[in-house]
Amino acid sequence: MTRVVDRLRPGRTVFSVEFFPPKSDEEERLLWKAIREFEALDPAYVSVTYGAGGSSRDRTVRTTGRIAGETTLLPMAHLTGVNHSIAELRQVIGAYAAEGIRNVLVIRGDPPGDPMGEWIPHPEGITYADELVRLVRECGDFCVGVAAFPHMHPRSADLESDTRHMVAKLRAGADFSVAQMFLEPEHFLRLRDRLAQRGCHQPLLPGIMPITTPKVLGMTTQLSNMTIPSAVSSVLDPLAGDPAGFRAAGIEITTKLCEKLIAEGVPALHFYSLNRAQATREVVSNLGLSDGVLKAT
Ligand code: FAD
Repeated sequence: MTRVVDRLRPGRTVFSVEFFPPKSDEEERLLWKAIREFEALDPAYVSVTYGAGGSSRDRTVRTTGRIAGETTLLPMAHLTGVNHSIAELRQVIGAYAAEGIRNVLVIRGDPPGDPMGEWIPHPEGITYADELVRLVRECGDFCVGVAAFPHMHPRSADLESDTRHMVAKLRAGADFSVAQMFLEPEHFLRLRDRLAQRGCHQPLLPGIMPITTPKVLGMTTQLSNMTIPSAVSSVLDPLAGDPAGFRAAGIEITTKLCEKLIAEGVPALHFYSLNRAQATREVVSNLGLSDGVLKAT
């Protein structure tokens, strides 16, 4: 199977899309509608999240396997280590291999409950993502991605330790990383610089959530450990009671963010799609999409 990094080439920007595994027949129908719409746009790859602790294990394996078997898309499965023993993790990795999945986004995951609360690692499991990178590597010929945090991980004490641990994941054998959401390109670019200064030149993909509603904007800030920049809130706050106006302005803000990132030579834009195609399609269309490849950089 093609590796994600084989689809990332210098000198051009492509896009990728993230899904979560559906929980009901209706969610499944909507996801597959979105998958078919994205298929026509030929994204570099699509990924499927994994519920921490294995809550979505079977659904993630099934959805990713179905994408591999029934579409022309290149799938990547997420895998979180938290609350799994090494033996259980090996089983999931084996299930991915059996479905023909060779691209895995390796993450530590958050334990259920308070994401900032104390947690005790599984006694026979892993504590941090770098250990899971090594485990997946030992299990076979996988292309491995890891998570990156432009506003640093919320649990990190400071930027220095955050960077050190990020570097450890990359040096453990990761081929690329995908960033959490952000709204100001400078935070992403500074992270890229910090990693390059430490000799880590693996592709770093920006994570983009098209802003369509106040709820989506709230989700972006909650997940990413950032506050809404004044340049964004000054445009969107007055539109809180105007859904169409908010959406149009949000898509424009998202498009401009992507344009700046393309100008900075990012290899791909990774879209958090929320299992819907429309907003991401609008942004990639605004950017001048052609056969899945965005404007030459
Ligand atoms: P780690 O890299 O292990 O880092 C976690 C924290 O520990 C950081 O503060 C880090 O600095 C610190 N740390 C790392 N190593 C050490 C060490 N040796 N000593 C001390 N401290 C250390 N969650 C899901 O449940 N399912 C998903 O599918 C999913 N997909 C995601 C995809 C992306 C692109 C991103 C950005 C996040 C995703 N998440 C997902 C959320 C993720 O699980 C959480 O952000 C989690 O808290 C961090 O995982 P990690 O792999 O970055 O952890």
